[in-house]
Amino acid sequence: MGNTTYGFIGLGHMGSPMARRVLDDKRLLLVHDVSPDAVARIAQEGAVAAPSLKAVVEGADVIFLSLPEPSTVQAVAREIGAAATAGSRTRYVVDFSTIGPKAAVDVAAVLRENQITYVEAPVSGGPKGAANGTLAVMVSCAERAFEEVGKSLDIFGTVFHVGEGYGQAQTLKLANNMLSVCAVVATAEALSMGVKAGLSPTRMLEVINKSSGRNTATEAKYPRAVVTRTFDYGFSTRLAYKDVRLCVDESEGLGVPMIIGAAVRQIMAITNSSYGPESDFTTAARVVEQWSGVEIKD
Ligand code: NAD
Repeated sequence: MGNTTYGFIGLGHMGSPMARRVLDDKRLLLVHDVSPDAVARIAQEGAVAAPSLKAVVEGADVIFLSLPEPSTVQAVAREIGAAATAGSRTRYVVDFSTIGPKAAVDVAAVLRENQITYVEAPVSGGPKGAANGTLAVMVSCAERAFEEVGKSLDIFGTVFHVGEGYGQAQTLKLANNMLSVCAVVATAEALSMGVKAGLSPTRMLEVINKSSGRNTATEAKYPRAVVTRTFDYGFSTRLAYKDVRLCVDESEGLGVPMIIGAAVRQIMAITNSSYGPESDFTTAARVVEQWSGVEIKD
């Protein structure tokens, strides 16, 4: 896709570093976000600020989305569909958001009515992975769309074509995030116990990270955002709670009980109401700390 112009809608924690990767690859990029500040920041780095979403549809062959909730993606897909005319350029919408399989099927149908192909491509790896181009990109779409667009997503990380059916990549992404949030909560319990018994959490992490209990929370989230008390890993409680909720609902809908996931969902519900949806999801550690009467710090 040599002369392809790209659009990027949703320039938050994930979208802005991903948009930067598109610019670094010397591709033309039209950007749009409801936050003028988010647009201004990336426009300073060479992106073209689109005056409206309609302008993105008119000018971009491929539109990338990185939006918060299933309802946001559904609303934006309807707007894209409404803006698409015979003269507009958009042929593909590639969606990096986590929205669950049901919303993905719905969005694909809305776009198809307007001759636009939906490429479902949720990602994992956080803002750091987005900046470094080391995300896992989970793609489900037809083989032809994968050949035309999916393969070129390798500027963001490792691309996995997991299936041709809509909803499949989203199901995989929900499974991954349920495990990721479980790790955050279980690590809070393990470290709170150790701290209460007089151990240093940094020393505990050092040992656990060479032992069988290591996980993404012990390796990255706790050293960077909990022991330091910054609670700024870059993923909001709102979105982590949304992902676990979508996962448990989906699993139960399939007749697969999710007991651990359901407990973690409740911890995220408590984190959300105690610390607010805009808190970082590593704040879940503070819920466990409060119950335990300790702080996970040296
Ligand atoms: P974020 O809240 O930081 O960013 C979302 C952006 O979308 C914001 O800039 C917001 O202004 C913009 N936006 C909201 N509604 C809009 C609309 N109608 N039109 C245009 N722009 C709109 O969220 P994030 O952390 O970047 O996550 C984005 C998506 O990626 C979510 O679905 C999330 O679950 C998923 N995700 C996040 C992470 C992470 O670590 N942060 C990792 C993997 C996947």
